[in-house]
Amino acid sequence: MASIRLPPLPTISDIIKLYRLSAIKQLSQNFLMDERLTDKIIKYTGKIYDSQVLEVGPGPGTITRSIIKKFPKQLVVVEKDKRFKPNLDMLKDAVTTSNGNMKIIYNDIMDVDTKTVFNDAKKRNWEDETPNIFLVGNLPFNVSTALIIKYLHEISEKSGMWSNGRVQMTLTFQKEVAERLVAEVSQNQRCRLSVIAQAFTVPKLRFIIPGGAFVPKPQVDVGVVSFIPLKIPRTNHNFNFFEKINRHLFSFRQKHCIKCAGTLFPPDCRDHLSKVMFKLADVDPKTPAFNLTVEDINRLASAYKYLCIKHQKLITYDYRACRKILSKKLTKLVSVTNHMEDGKMF
Ligand code: SAM
Repeated sequence: MASIRLPPLPTISDIIKLYRLSAIKQLSQNFLMDERLTDKIIKYTGKIYDSQVLEVGPGPGTITRSIIKKFPKQLVVVEKDKRFKPNLDMLKDAVTTSNGNMKIIYNDIMDVDTKTVFNDAKKRNWEDETPNIFLVGNLPFNVSTALIIKYLHEISEKSGMWSNGRVQMTLTFQKEVAERLVAEVSQNQRCRLSVIAQAFTVPKLRFIIPGGAFVPKPQVDVGVVSFIPLKIPRTNHNFNFFEKINRHLFSFRQKHCIKCAGTLFPPDCRDHLSKVMFKLADVDPKTPAFNLTVEDINRLASAYKYLCIKHQKLITYDYRACRKILSKKLTKLVSVTNHMEDGKMF
């Protein structure tokens, strides 16, 4: 395999002094400057040679270099901060000189339609092997959870990047979030995010990077997680509906899950319909939510859907909105009572 001449890796002080970059906290800029670690991330990303790769948040380009060394057919990077332009331009020049193809997009990743990133993507059918298209990034912490939820949603609809088949992702998260994504039934970290991630993908926690490996050092360690979309998702419900059921089920951690699911129903029929829902789904109402399997939750979602069809008013019932109205009424009542106590009412 041919080799590629990359410009020398900028040192930390190069980056900070030369480009007058101070890591912007808002953009969660914690740079990974250890080539062995960036190479390890890329090792877990997949077979990069001759593939199409989208990198999120390249920053000074350390992960980018590890990708380039593996000769992708096409590399697209999305970076919000234009101050990295000199670094990224140098990498692009090196790639172009060796007949490669690199594109830099300066934008917020949340606004990028991943479907349009590769116009000549080598698609594969969903049921076939995963395509030679990869998404990778040392994600900004501040958008990582929102971004993975957005991408899981797209996977569920086979839209965006996933209109090309079961594109694999390898992304970094705060260690706690990474552990939640992969938490199994009855594990302490099991939550709504675990169920949603595992309903549509197989998430794997590959390794932990200690906070000390980043510049500046974040307060937390970082987990590298890869996701392979499932050929057949473990739920047959649409993303928003399934997410809603999970949101309710995991609303009170220690309570029996029937108590949590109760908030799906208006107070006047809450007890009755929650019992019917659990009976129809054949789930023990006393189980705490973290002991429910994805399949249990899928059956609960089906039972709830059945009840919604039978009782149309359930569809529009919003527990949180009702709580807000109630709390506004209570605040008003307290303020009236205070006025009365101050004698201001008379
Ligand atoms: N990949 C580099 C590394 O590993 O050293 C930088 C990682 S740093 C944690 C996150 C990077 O994402 C920064 O370069 C930051 O400017 C960029 N970024 C932050 N928010 C972004 C967004 N919404 N869209 C695209 N890039 C973003």
